Amino acid sequence: MSVHFFEKPPKWLKFITPGLTWSLPNHDKIIYLTFDDGPDVKATPYVLDVLNEFKAKASFFVVGEMAEKNVKLLKRMASSGHFIGNHTYKHLNGWKTPAQVYLRDILKCQQFIDKMVPASPIKLFRPPYGRLTKAQMRGLKKDYKIILCEKISGDFQPKLDFPRALRSLYETQAGDIVLFHDSIKCYKNLEILLPKFLAFFSARGYTFETLNID
Ligand SMILES: [Zn+2]
Repeated sequence: MSVHFFEKPPKWLKFITPGLTWSLPNHDKIIYLTFDDGPDVKATPYVLDVLNEFKAKASFFVVGEMAEKNVKLLKRMASSGHFIGNHTYKHLNGWKTPAQVYLRDILKCQQFIDKMVPASPIKLFRPPYGRLTKAQMRGLKKDYKIILCEKISGDFQPKLDFPRALRSLYETQAGDIVLFHDSIKCYKNLEILLPKFLAFFSARGYTFETLNID
């Protein structure tokens, strides 16, 4: 469902797009885990259990139509102390969607989230495929903080080179926003990557927190 556009965001891109958040550098050894494309009946309960095992909190960027199908899981995310962000209602590609249609779709997703779980004063949005036009960005900025990521797990790759993926993941630094997917398509890779990632950084004194911060 999701192939994200940037392997790693180039520095110049960060420079010209100040409205976007890629990481939140800190001295407290905090890592920000994010999960896109759920909730999914198989992947999401697995992620919630593993996070719980490591006392880790995370941010889930849910797809509205998935959330409607899996309301119980959406509620479980919230009641477990995780943050629920918006990933559009229909997993739209911003580059292929007129701004008004795109913004309406995001609003539809947000309204559903806010109806089902206690509404947060801070609203977070992550564009599917990392693709967003300037007009869409302008339309979103008033109501949402736009969250991208510094580290991509690669869990969406059908033939993932695990040693390489793990080497890259283990280079994660304090403040990095890390992207995983709680989708059925990524489940097999996630099952291998996520517990290893959590164990590696827990053993080194890192904690995992949500992104609903000012
Ligand atoms: Zn996605």
